[in-house]
Amino acid sequence: MTTTLIVEDNRRNMLLIRDLLRLHGFRTLEASDGEEGIARAKAERPDLILMDLQLPGMDGLTATRVLRQDPVTAAVPVVALTAHAMKGDRERALEAGCNGYIPKPIDTRRFLAQIQAFLPGAARPGRS
Ligand code: MN
Repeated sequence: MTTTLIVEDNRRNMLLIRDLLRLHGFRTLEASDGEEGIARAKAERPDLILMDLQLPGMDGLTATRVLRQDPVTAAVPVVALTAHAMKGDRERALEAGCNGYIPKPIDTRRFLAQIQAFLPGAARPGRS
């Protein structure tokens, strides 16, 4: 079973994403800040991490850089989630080591297709 770690401090978004993933047969893990996300990623080695970029304390970009520097989590795909449709967000996310980027609010009809490309075994556009 594919395990996805959701790092998200907004409870409503967390529940929406969790329910969508569970509905489609994913196992889900939850963390509400960057430090907890890193700890859970190291302990449970998920197949995919969905990382909110705006988190209390350590932000999602910093958490992603930490994950990338740890051999245990370096290869786990990280997909950034952000409500800020700011120009340059995508570039900053990729620069920090994120594999991809999904803007919030989540489009529930497209969400599964959006993360599918980043799952192990699937084609990963942008990777060579
Ligand atoms: Mn947030």
